Amino acid sequence: MSEPWARIARFGGGEIVSDVECPYCGQEQEVCQDDGHGCEDGKVYEEQCGFCEKYFALTPSISFDFYSKKADCMNGGVHDWRVNQHIYDGYKQYRRCNNCDESEWFNANQEHIA
Ligand SMILES: [Zn+2]
Ligand SMILES: [Zn+2]
Repeated sequence: MSEPWARIARFGGGEIVSDVECPYCGQEQEVCQDDGHGCEDGKVYEEQCGFCEKYFALTPSISFDFYSKKADCMNGGVHDWRVNQHIYDGYKQYRRCNNCDESEWFNANQEHIA
C-alpha cells in the first residue's frame, strides 16, 4: 500500500470514469482512452455508441479521493519518523515522517543534521 502523503502528492491522478451509458439506447459501454481520448477533465469528446452507432457528447469527470489521518506533528507533537534503510551516507542516516512529508538526516545520537 502506498503512503498517504504519496497519494496526496499525486493529486490529479484520480480515477477516470471509463464506463458510460449511451444517452440514446442506454447501453453501458467502456470508453476507449487510447491517445488520451476521453481523459481531459471537462472537455467534450465525440463518442460513438458501439450498440446503436449514434454519436453522443462525452465529457470526462475526474474524481479525486482524499485520505486523512491523525498527524500529531502538525499539532505540536513529535514526528513519527521512519528510517529509510536504503539511504545511508557514512555516519548519517535518512528518515521521513510517516505523517507529514518532513524528512531529515540524522546521526547515531538521533540528532538532526542540517
Ligand atoms: Zn446507443
Ligand atoms: Zn511529521
